[in-house]
Amino acid sequence: MHIEDIITRDGRTVSFEFFPPKSPEAVASLEARLEVFAVLEPSFVSVTYGAGGSTRMHTHDLVVRMRQRKLLDPVPHLTCIGHTEAEIDAILHRYASEGISNLLALRGDQPADAPPLGEEEFPHAIDLVQRIVRFNESGGHPDTRGFGIGVAGFPEGHPDTPNQLVHMEHLKAKIDAGANWITTQLFTDNSHFFDWRDRCDLIGIDVPVIAGLMPITSLATMRRMSDLAAGTTFPARLQRRLAQYQDDPASVEQAGIQWAVEQCNDLLDQGVAGIHFYTLNKSDATRRIFEALGAGSSSAALRSRL
Ligand SMILES: Cc1cc2nc3c(=O)[nH]c(=O)nc-3n(C[C@H](O)[C@H](O)[C@H](O)COP(=O)(O)OP(=O)(O)OC[C@H]3O[C@@H](n4cnc5c(N)ncnc54)[C@H](O)[C@@H]3O)c2cc1C
Repeated sequence: MHIEDIITRDGRTVSFEFFPPKSPEAVASLEARLEVFAVLEPSFVSVTYGAGGSTRMHTHDLVVRMRQRKLLDPVPHLTCIGHTEAEIDAILHRYASEGISNLLALRGDQPADAPPLGEEEFPHAIDLVQRIVRFNESGGHPDTRGFGIGVAGFPEGHPDTPNQLVHMEHLKAKIDAGANWITTQLFTDNSHFFDWRDRCDLIGIDVPVIAGLMPITSLATMRRMSDLAAGTTFPARLQRRLAQYQDDPASVEQAGIQWAVEQCNDLLDQGVAGIHFYTLNKSDATRRIFEALGAGSSSAALRSRL
């Protein structure tokens, strides 16, 4: 099913993001944990892709295993930076032959320690979107519509484009090129998301927008989030709450989860199309958020809160 089909069926999506572990032990540990995530009945899960890195095949392998186990519906991320057209086409053929329905099409970032790139065949995510659309039109996918295509959105902007008006035009161009939905960068201040969603509306972006959330489970996680999502702000009210528990990790975690619960309640009340949890492969915080939201053991209760 395409993501829009799921939204039409369920009203909204609840999804989880994983990264493919590197070591065999970490893979086994994640695979065991997938059962715990599956109990929460997400609409889909997504698996990140290491731009320019050596872990690219891990994404493919994890996605295929998830599909074979039929526990969770996987959406692979695909970054285009550093890839040739032939490589991208080979990946698209492979995912199509395995019946993967959706892809999250991204540019990716060149790792800091990697040599500078020369002339790029895919300088921006829009180039990948266009390539997937061409693949879809060629009839290479068992679904006559081809892959459903998601792209990234940045409610607080993106470091490469300080001009926010231009940045919104780049996002609109990805939708016009054929993307069907947007998943956002993580944010901790809903007012940024709501304002940005209004700006999407103003510029004529009418595809579903799925909000990305990552619960803060420790002060170190907050620093990591700040690295992962450069430019993301942490409201003073949140920082003040966490700071009072400097020496009490359990209370920091509880406060971080409570903050995420408040964000979710607000987003659900304001009719968000979906919530995407950046899980860092850990199930505990996600499960606790579900419990606190009164969703019990599955996301069905959240999806039905229209
Ligand atoms: C939901 C989500 C999932 C992610 N998953 C991964 C992952 O799995 N692996 C990974 O490596 N990274 C991932 N990232 C990070 C992402 O790849 C980086 O943030 C990257 O810098 C931007 O990717 P993009 O797809 O938005 O790129 P683009 O849409 O290409 O935008 C990148 C920058 O270029 C600008 N731009 C776009 N088009 C043009 C143009 N035509 N001319 C000039 N400038 C332009 C944009 O305004 C923006 O500043 C993810 C991010 C999000 C939000």
